[in-house]
Amino acid sequence: MPGVLLRGGCGPLVLLWALLLPLVSLSHLHQHGRRGPCVTDRPKLLLLSFDGFRWDYIDRVPTPNFNSLMEKGVMVKQVESAYITKTFPNHYSLVTGLYAESHGIVANEMYDPVLNRSFSMETDSIYESQWWEEAVPLWLTVQKAGGRSGAAMWPGSDVKIHGMYPNEFLQYNASVSFETRVKRIVEWFSAPKEEAVDFAVLYWEEPDESGHMLGPQSPLMDVVIAGIDEKLGFLMNELKKAGLYERVNLIVTSDHGMTQLSADKIIELDVYVSRDLYTWVDKSPVVGILPKEGRLDEVYSLLVDANPNMVVYKKEEIPAHFHYQHNVRIMPIILEAKEGWTIMQNRTGPFMLGNHGYDNTLHSMQPLFVAHGPAFRQNYVKTSMSAVDLYPLMCHILSVRPLPNNGSLFNVKDLLAEEPVRSMPSPPPSTPPMVKEYSYAPVWGSFLGVVLVLGFLGVYIRQMTLKQMYPLKHKGWEMSQPLLQEDLQL
Ligand SMILES: [Zn+2]
Repeated sequence: MPGVLLRGGCGPLVLLWALLLPLVSLSHLHQHGRRGPCVTDRPKLLLLSFDGFRWDYIDRVPTPNFNSLMEKGVMVKQVESAYITKTFPNHYSLVTGLYAESHGIVANEMYDPVLNRSFSMETDSIYESQWWEEAVPLWLTVQKAGGRSGAAMWPGSDVKIHGMYPNEFLQYNASVSFETRVKRIVEWFSAPKEEAVDFAVLYWEEPDESGHMLGPQSPLMDVVIAGIDEKLGFLMNELKKAGLYERVNLIVTSDHGMTQLSADKIIELDVYVSRDLYTWVDKSPVVGILPKEGRLDEVYSLLVDANPNMVVYKKEEIPAHFHYQHNVRIMPIILEAKEGWTIMQNRTGPFMLGNHGYDNTLHSMQPLFVAHGPAFRQNYVKTSMSAVDLYPLMCHILSVRPLPNNGSLFNVKDLLAEEPVRSMPSPPPSTPPMVKEYSYAPVWGSFLGVVLVLGFLGVYIRQMTLKQMYPLKHKGWEMSQPLLQEDLQL
């Protein structure tokens, strides 16, 4: 338990401090105390997403690096992603703790009737700030709290949100290798103290791309998964080389899973409804339909019983457990394909062998979660968690106050070491006047004995004060969490 080590390992130095205390001003000690060997640095956290890494991929091939991380860390077998289980909505949920209806990135392809703008992964529209500003991602919250953030290609991290970028970030470029991204991240964590990042996010496009192309059942996916394990090994090794591996809390997770499709399982909308009646907004398997003005009921009635493998919802009928209703960017009609089925207008469009986006309670849509570092327990396995719970967990690790969110720290606190690291900058201690007086008494000779005794006393009081302040501060956050959730569940 790091907290115990922090206190226990400082014994001999306490004696030294006491001896030197009369010679050094207390304000000087406070200013530089964090850099001393007794006090750890601020908590560090790296969040890594391997896009589309389904929870059970690690069972298909040997994954020695995942195993190594889990043996000294924690694993959650399945993470329930937010609905819809698509890339942009879920990456934003991971860093905001909000369901898509609350953070506003409700799909990879969107239309906002208020802004009268469209959003598409295929265009520069993703750089328009207004899409992202219904929420505040964690990298900005860390910065507002006085910390520093870095981001390597995470969706939204190269967009100016609420007037800010991450302190360090890479403009999205799919051709930049994983290894280059890792090296930049390690540089940011290794920078001189004032410039070092406290929190970083790292994104890699695989195994999602191969999963779409090959289908998750393809034996060729085994090679892809083994390759991901090697990439994780590269990251672990770079962190070790930089002396960061035991200091930086590393979370490895993903935005969603992947399921096998079949060319026999295609639903062709053109068979049921004329394209003149609606605008097709988002792609399969959850399709947003914007009916032409005055045609909503007509489109709905044409589709509602059209195909047994397609569920049709009017917006107000979308089940509450999806948390996917209260946003103007969610279209008036939603079509949801059953697992493995593809909705197209007709068969001329591109067809993939793997996809995601389906009902988030399906096992195939769920990614894994593995974490390692001073904040986490060791060799601990948990069955499941919700993706929105990651945000309050990360805020806790970083000692940052969470913004209102849909997650709960309570649900995941068993992942944490029993005495979580509380090593953010010390709360401004109230200087005992008695000690301050002695800090200006560099007098030796006949007063030395008195000074030493009072020096010991001063350090003892300071240590006791800090011991009490850490648990108090921690308790305050625990208590604030349910209130924040209630704010949002209205
Ligand atoms: Zn994805």
